[in-house]
Order: sequence, then C-alpha cells, then structure tokens
Amino acid sequence: MEQEIAKCVIIGSGPAGYTAGIYTSRANLSPILFEGIQPGGQLTTTTDIENFPGYPEGINGTEMMEQLKAQAMRFGTTVRPQIVEKVDFSVRPFALTIEDGTTMLAHTVIIATGASAKYLGLDDEKKYAGMGVSACATCDGFFYRKKTVAVVGGGDTACEEAVYLSGLAKKVYMIVRKDYLRASDVMKQRVFSTPNIEVLFNTNTVGLFGERGVEGAHLVKFKGEPNEETLDIAIDGFFLAIGHKPNTDIFRGQIDLDAQGYIITAGQGTATNVEGVFAAGDVADPHYRQAITAAGMGCKAAIDAERYLTAHNLK
Ligand code: NDP
Repeated sequence: MEQEIAKCVIIGSGPAGYTAGIYTSRANLSPILFEGIQPGGQLTTTTDIENFPGYPEGINGTEMMEQLKAQAMRFGTTVRPQIVEKVDFSVRPFALTIEDGTTMLAHTVIIATGASAKYLGLDDEKKYAGMGVSACATCDGFFYRKKTVAVVGGGDTACEEAVYLSGLAKKVYMIVRKDYLRASDVMKQRVFSTPNIEVLFNTNTVGLFGERGVEGAHLVKFKGEPNEETLDIAIDGFFLAIGHKPNTDIFRGQIDLDAQGYIITAGQGTATNVEGVFAAGDVADPHYRQAITAAGMGCKAAIDAERYLTAHNLK
C-alpha cells in the first residue's frame, strides 16, 4: 500500500498549533495535528486567561484550548493524541517518526511545540519531584490548602502563581533573586496587596530538605556580598516560575536554532531555513510569548504553508 502523504502536519496543540489547524483546514489542506506531550499546551496549566481578546470576563485556560481544538476539528483538522519522536527534513516529502513507530510523510510541517518550564538545576528538585516540587500551581496547588508554599521567580508567571496559591495556602513566600519584581505593574500590585504573600528579595534557593517530602528550603540572601546570610524557611511546597525553555530537542541538527534553542524564522514570516518547514508560537518567540501572539503566528504559518504548497504544485 502506498504511504499517505499529508499536505500539512502540525506538531503541537497550543494556541499556535490549533490556529494553524483552523487556517490550514479552511484552506482545504486536510492538516494532521499531533497533540504532543501536553495536549492544549501551557495554557492548560494556567489559571484564567484575562488578556485574550474576545473574553471580557476571562476564560479558563483548559476551556479555551478545548474551544480552539473544537474549532480546528470543525473544519477538518485531524487531531492525533500522539508524540512526534523524530523528524527528517533532509528528505522530501519530510519524514516524521511517530511514537508508535510508524512514519508519516508531509509536504509541509508547522512546528508549534511551545516551551517548557525551567528548573533551577538543584539535585533536590529531582529528589523531591512529585513530593513537593512543582512547576504548575494550577495543577498542584490544591494539595497545599492551608499549608505554606514558596514560589521562585519575579516575573508575571511567578506573581500569577503566588496570587493563585494565596487563595489556597496559609502563606506564600516569593523567592526573588533581585531586589525587584520584573512583573507588570498590575501583577506586582496584586502581590503587594495580598496579605499572606511575603516577598523575599535578593534571595536564592540552594537546597530543599525534608524526610518524606519537602519540609523546607535552604536560602541565601545577598549571595556573594559582604552581608551574605543563610536562612531556612519551613515550606510544604516549592513552585518554580522562572521562565521557559523551547521544546526543540527533536529538531536539533535539522533546522537552525538560536543560542537558547529557539527556532530562527526569517523576517516577519514563519519560514525556517528549511523550505516547507514553518515555526509558530513560543518555540520561535523568545520575546512576546503570549497566547494571542502565538495564535497570530499560527495563522501566519498556515498562510505561509498554503502559499508554499501552491507555489510548488503540491495542493
Ligand atoms: P520571565 O522571564 O518574565 O521571568 C522569570 C523570572 O524568574 C524573573 O524574575 C527571573 O529573575 C527569575 N529567574 C530566572 N532564572 C532564575 C534562576 N535561575 N534563579 C532564580 N530566579 C530566576 O518569565 P515569566 O514566565 O514570568 O514570563 C514570561 C513572559 O510571559 C513574560 O513576557 C510575561 O510578561 C508573560 N506572561 C504574561 C502573563 C499575563 O499577562 N497574564 C502571565 C504570565 C506570563 P530576574 O528578574 O533576576 O532575571
């Protein structure tokens, strides 16, 4: 039997992937979308989305992603709950190895694999994984009702997670390495006006301790300075919110990445250095990283893929 060749394969199921699905299916490209490790992407691990146009009251992240998925499927996007494990962009059509060992061929590929939470790199983060260490307050906050937790980071994510956790936990520490929060004014305001959040500025975490799970953190204040001091805090949960790493491991050596591992796209478009391969969303965007910008890039990638197929008589 001759192997099926997809006109367009989309890898990833965040706002970029589903928007690419909506546009490519409406352009009759019968796209196949692989959901990947985290169906719905990062927004399924956030609380309410208040800044996506069209939702004046805000919307739950998981609900929004279900709506985007339904919209993509309505126009003919085939959504597969599988992971693409390997790609070969040196052959045409492109060859993709799926987790079940099968191969999928595609004339165009839209990469929308997003980014994942970063960790500090402490051995204790691994030691206590699932035993008090988490990178998702919305997923795990429930376990810390009336307990004490710490959130590491001083950006919007850290503030959002701290405010969310403050509604569940008895007390929330924010561990911030600088002497300021880099978050937006509105988020800073929310943190400073929440009585059970205590911000520890100029503070780094050097370890965790506990018998059967996290019971506390070893901290250093003013690290490397004359007034350096160590202190321990008692906590039950330790939440990381220090930024993200692009999910590009399977593309290494196949397409051009920048020093941080983000996919490099040409100019204002979504074309990568491999003709016929496009990138959209956080995987190619170290600057904006918003749901709405990811969706916009997904739309651009779909239009770029459609134009490529037309120009090469592959439609
Ligand atoms: P950011 O990169 O903005 O912030 C990361 C934070 O983690 C910074 O405070 C940084 O410290 C700290 N950090 C990084 N590495 C370490 C480390 N090794 N040890 C200790 N602290 C560390 O990431 P976010 O995920 O917060 O936000 C990403 C983007 O998404 C931003 O543009 C943000 O505005 C946006 N966003 C918007 C939201 C909204 O509008 N509702 C919600 C969430 C995110 P330092 O400042 O010292 O570098």
